[in-house]
Amino acid sequence: MASDPGCSRSTAPRPSHIYLATTNAHKVSEFQALADAMVGGLQMSAASHMPAVPEDTGTFIGNARQKARALQSLLPKTAWVLADDSGVCVDALGGAPGVESAYFAGPHHDSAANLNKLTAVMQAVPLGLRGASFRCVLVLLGPDDREFVAEGRCEGTLRLNPVGGYGFGYDPLFEPTGYTKTYAELDQSTKNKISHRGRAWSELIIALSNHR
Ligand code: IMP
Repeated sequence: MASDPGCSRSTAPRPSHIYLATTNAHKVSEFQALADAMVGGLQMSAASHMPAVPEDTGTFIGNARQKARALQSLLPKTAWVLADDSGVCVDALGGAPGVESAYFAGPHHDSAANLNKLTAVMQAVPLGLRGASFRCVLVLLGPDDREFVAEGRCEGTLRLNPVGGYGFGYDPLFEPTGYTKTYAELDQSTKNKISHRGRAWSELIIALSNHR
């Protein structure tokens, strides 16, 4: 990564370009749509060399910071880096899989296996006890040790069986409160308006705007 197309001045408080510290193409797509929707424009690109990180802090914020710092260490000092750590917290499972959502079915980061496991584990849980929330913590690192943190949450319930073809991960099982469709039945723009990630992004933009 030779040059940073992001900032013309190292003291600029607002990024014009952000590198995403993820290898998840679905997250990249959702963030790019969120950035595209911004007045004034904001460019985003996925990291071309995202290093492996252990994601072993046990918290969303700790893991997000770990990912952001790992990528930042490879980039010019003027670069802005955004990391997302997210997951689904299921009431009947005491908040699990939560920060371990990517590894619920084992260490291999297999989305289909994770979805199947959650579907199976929840079969015995009655309708009134199927509450869950998606959570997302964002860490944005910028020049001069700037750090912005934001969190978003979306409440809902888990269906008995997966439905829908959009999105990724646990989307086909999760019905957000106020909707009769799962995340995976909502197109990306609708999901982004209400999702944990979309809400965290809105918080992040507010934090950036308030920064002097
Ligand atoms: P991580 O943030 O890379 O640790 O992984 C988050 C995991 O949580 C993903 O692998 C998905 O299984 C799940 N997850 C996070 N956000 C979403 C979402 O928007 N839809 C569905 N699953 C998600």
